[in-house]
Amino acid sequence: MRHSKESLVLPLLPLRGISVFPYMMLHFDVGRDKSVNALEEAMVKDQLIFLVSQKDAATDEPSPEDFYHVGTVSKIKQLLKLPGDTIRVLVEGINRGKITGIIKDDPFYEVEIDEYRDSDEVDKDTETEALMRGIFDCFEEYVKLTNRTAVDTLVTVGNIEEPARFADVVVSNLALKINRKQQILEAFDPLERLKRLHSILIKELDILKVEKKINLRVKRQIDKMQREYYLKEQLKAIQKELGEEEGVLSEVEEYRERIKKAGLTEEVEKKVMKEAERLLKLPPGSAETGVIRGYLDWILELPWNVETEDNLDLKFAKNVLEEDHYGLVKVKERILEYLAIRQLAKGMKGPILCLVGPPGVGKTSIGRSIARALNRKFVRMSLGGVRDEAEIRGHRKTYVGAIPGRIIYSMRQAGSKNPVFLLDEVDKMSNDFRGDPASAMLEVLDAEQNHAFRDHYLEVPFDLSKVVFVTTANTTDTIPRPLLDRMEVIYISSYTEEEKLNIALKYLLPKQLKEHGLTGENLMMSEATVRDIINYYTREAGVRNLERRIADVCRKAARQIVEDNKTRVRVTGANLGKYLGIPGYRYRKVKEGKETGIATGLAWTPVGGETLSIEVTTMKGTGKLVLTGQLGDIMKESARAGISYVRSRYEEFEIDADFYKDMDIHIHIPEGAIPKDGPSAGITMATAVISALSGRPVRKDIAMTGEITLRGRILPVGGIKEKCLAANRAGISTVIIPAENEKDLEEIPANVRKRINFVFAEHMDRVLEHALAGDE
Ligand code: ADP
Repeated sequence: MRHSKESLVLPLLPLRGISVFPYMMLHFDVGRDKSVNALEEAMVKDQLIFLVSQKDAATDEPSPEDFYHVGTVSKIKQLLKLPGDTIRVLVEGINRGKITGIIKDDPFYEVEIDEYRDSDEVDKDTETEALMRGIFDCFEEYVKLTNRTAVDTLVTVGNIEEPARFADVVVSNLALKINRKQQILEAFDPLERLKRLHSILIKELDILKVEKKINLRVKRQIDKMQREYYLKEQLKAIQKELGEEEGVLSEVEEYRERIKKAGLTEEVEKKVMKEAERLLKLPPGSAETGVIRGYLDWILELPWNVETEDNLDLKFAKNVLEEDHYGLVKVKERILEYLAIRQLAKGMKGPILCLVGPPGVGKTSIGRSIARALNRKFVRMSLGGVRDEAEIRGHRKTYVGAIPGRIIYSMRQAGSKNPVFLLDEVDKMSNDFRGDPASAMLEVLDAEQNHAFRDHYLEVPFDLSKVVFVTTANTTDTIPRPLLDRMEVIYISSYTEEEKLNIALKYLLPKQLKEHGLTGENLMMSEATVRDIINYYTREAGVRNLERRIADVCRKAARQIVEDNKTRVRVTGANLGKYLGIPGYRYRKVKEGKETGIATGLAWTPVGGETLSIEVTTMKGTGKLVLTGQLGDIMKESARAGISYVRSRYEEFEIDADFYKDMDIHIHIPEGAIPKDGPSAGITMATAVISALSGRPVRKDIAMTGEITLRGRILPVGGIKEKCLAANRAGISTVIIPAENEKDLEEIPANVRKRINFVFAEHMDRVLEHALAGDE
């Protein structure tokens, strides 16, 4: 061991929070009586004192267990009395010492110690040398990281050759916890001292590095916060300068209030709040604040939480339907069933009603009645011609002038989240490059998805699941299949003249009178007059134009009453022209006579039944078949089938056997009816061709419908009811229909059925038998 040991008796002074090492100069203040006594004792002797560290700085009157027993024999260099009873002491550490006995503890501690003196040897083995270098490197780094130690200390330390002293000087320059320092103080052997110091330094450096990283991060964060704070303050100052701050603040405050009251879901509220707060950050008057305001107003005007209470009384519903509509017995029944099922299966989402029929038969007004029956709000939106998905879902609000799509638009109009929502003309949507509106509609109508309908503009989901959707269409043919699959279709057919008359007398006329401020007293209109309006001024499946004509009459009559001071106006068949002008249609003029090469067919169209006149001429030629007018592909096919049938029977019809070689046949459908592209004109075309080729005329009071096979068999067709109503309207007395369609006659109103003479044909022979007029 390269140190020597000697016994001494010295006064002891316990230090609070500091430790003293040999070679170290240090000053501290002393106030405790015992300590002052110890100092005085030392001064009267040889100025030596034994300094130890207290284990806990807070202990006021330490007993021997409260301080470490290894300390430093030190020399008192200077004493300075400070105001109060405090003394400032300057000491220099000399050697390590270890208490071996306590001689007394009053009026100060006097202890017996072993003093250990380090040797001054400078020769060192490799391990010591390596440790010293390592320690020096660490110390250098430590100094840089902490910035606490003066740089010349490094030079001093670097010059120390004695390992023992080197360790003590280094450790006295470190800011370590007392117990750590004590570990080194207690290492009497220099090598052990170096080892302990090295490992402590390495640990300390690690901690310092992490600490530095954390500090840096915290500092950056603080910097950023400070910067933002500063900028915001600046902005506020500018706004204040411009006198606008108050306005924006109170506006945002107002939005906040409204947002809180709007009953939004958490997700929506969060998003909307954020938008409102953005107003504060943007310069007032910028384009973006306008967008945000528009957006917030939209959100806040939507019925997020407004719901009307359903009227579940089916009797009431029945009354409403009766009150609003004449006839439509089956339709009303279906609707009542639908309402009943909705009530029974509350949780279950029923199918969506789809009302299909020609224009003006009351589809929209039935929708309105459903709303009234349920005591719900009513909105209506037409899908006709919608071909852009954005029309349904809206544009993102980053688009200039963007607004929500029409669904959300209508929901705002409805003002409740559970309205009856009528989607008109679902059969008239088209799709092109701008996206597929039908798939957007699917989402709207799909009970699985529509509780969170996403509009591009709103960006937040809106709940459509409480809405009762009702759709209307003229035909189911063009409704996209997946949509159709979700719907329950209710067909409404054309009205007969009788039905129209009743609707006009019981509903349309009273309604129009009221709207024009008239009564049945002011304006007298007889049943016959209404019938004339139906027959001579309208030609339609529904009653839309009829209502308009009645409105025309009312308007003119009202003017007469006011201008001419009349109390009563009587509209009759004779003076109807004065109100409505020259009749637009020659209605139900009984057809007479016959004509060669022309036959009357019956067609079904989405706007009701139609009569269809087919003309055929033949001329010398090369056997060409020319087709013009309203002919679809299937119709052309049935024209060819008709001609093949004629060829196979040429003898019977007394036709030239080679007609198909040296004759051109031209088939034309002159009238502007838009027939559905179907085969049901087959027998009509065949009849016209045979008439043209054989020169035998066709009776004009006959109309027909049916598909023809190559051998002249007649196949059943659809739309018999609509077709017969059209035939009746056109004054046809005899209608030829396929034998298999006989069962469909039930659907035809009795008064119409009575008026028509039906021929049921299984084969073309029977058609010709009736249609071709005999030679006279
Ligand atoms: P659609 O929607 O089928 O085109 P609307 O519902 O617009 O037809 O009907 C046109 C007008 O005819 C409305 O004023 C409607 O009230 C009236 N109307 C239609 N059918 C009836 C009916 N059966 N009874 C009473 N009014 C009817």
